[in-house]
Amino acid sequence: MKYRNDKYGNALSVLGFGCMRFQKKVGRIVMQETERQVMQAFRNGINYFDTAFIYPGSEAAIGEIFQKNGIREQVHIATKIPPALIRSLEILDKLLDEQLKRLRTDYIDFYLFHMMADVKTWNRLQEMGIEQWISDKKACGKVRQIGFSFHGDTEHFCRIIDAYDWDMCLIQYNYMDEHTQAGRRGLVHAHEKGIPVMIMEPLRGGKLVNDLPARAEQTFASHAVQHTPAQWALRWLWDQPEVTVVLSGMNTDEMVRDNIQTACDTQVGELTQADREMLAEVVRHINSSMKVGCTACNYCMPCPQNINISGTFAAYNKRYAKNKAAGLKDYARLTAQYAPASACIGCGKCESHCPQSISIRAQLREVSEEMDGTAVRILGKTMGLFKK
Ligand code: SF4
Ligand code: SF4
Repeated sequence: MKYRNDKYGNALSVLGFGCMRFQKKVGRIVMQETERQVMQAFRNGINYFDTAFIYPGSEAAIGEIFQKNGIREQVHIATKIPPALIRSLEILDKLLDEQLKRLRTDYIDFYLFHMMADVKTWNRLQEMGIEQWISDKKACGKVRQIGFSFHGDTEHFCRIIDAYDWDMCLIQYNYMDEHTQAGRRGLVHAHEKGIPVMIMEPLRGGKLVNDLPARAEQTFASHAVQHTPAQWALRWLWDQPEVTVVLSGMNTDEMVRDNIQTACDTQVGELTQADREMLAEVVRHINSSMKVGCTACNYCMPCPQNINISGTFAAYNKRYAKNKAAGLKDYARLTAQYAPASACIGCGKCESHCPQSISIRAQLREVSEEMDGTAVRILGKTMGLFKK
């Protein structure tokens, strides 16, 4: 494993374990597999684990695994709290204590305000007295470093970075988002101020790996240097010295093994001009066929109408990236279990939670017009009956 330093010189593995996508069955984390993968990662040098208050069961799962295997002191835990839940500092005290309890620990290495999107949110916390709260929690040892995760534009990112003496931050960054969200400009700005930047969504929720359009696959296949799409996405990040830790939401043994191998093999500055041009071409192909930029984070769920929003968008994207039949087949399978896009009542509950600012209602209307055909609904129902 390779390591890069945090603000205080602690060595962090360049590959961090993102704990949002642990394997689940009927909504519950599959503990046996998760423990095996977490320990496989730990034994291979991964020492950074990222979770959040709102990832169902995730804090409790890693708390249990670290305690059972006696490795708490050898790993760094990053967890997050959404500012929307911080209605007062007394409430925040209770939330932090709940997180410590779930994580079975006395301290959190990296405590982040989750999904900040604009400087207004930080100003509200400041008015509440959050800076003193942070000092107190650091002094009593419950929190070691403070940061924030970000989904917004570059301007707001830079303003938040400049508004406080942060220990770290977490941004969505990958070769498709080089100039969106915090972007390369935000990354460099934070780095120049000495603030370590951790990366989430390195594969853009699988968009850079799964169901790639045929032309993107051909571009990879005809390049002089051969790596898998996932390896290219990770290599693009570790090539940049301003990146500290790259989180990967791993949930298979193979994924853990492959990502560790890539982390061990990759050097800063190894990508050539030809590699960059090849990736730019891949981006053009993905953009020309992608209908909805959903990263399958599921922050918008649950929908009161039982629409599987991310699954619906994945099927819709597949229809354009692959072919019509493949997309319709996935959609039919999905609507055997969930409501179709046409069931959306436009309540808007989902949209304020979407870190990608997707107009979910409008997009669902589009999906409905193109895919809620009678044939699909019948096929979906038929498949549902077969399942029973
Ligand atoms: S707007 Fe539609 S998709 Fe969103 S939560 Fe409401 S019913 Fe569900
Ligand atoms: S629509 Fe937005 S919130 Fe919902 S899964 Fe996709 S990216 Fe996440």
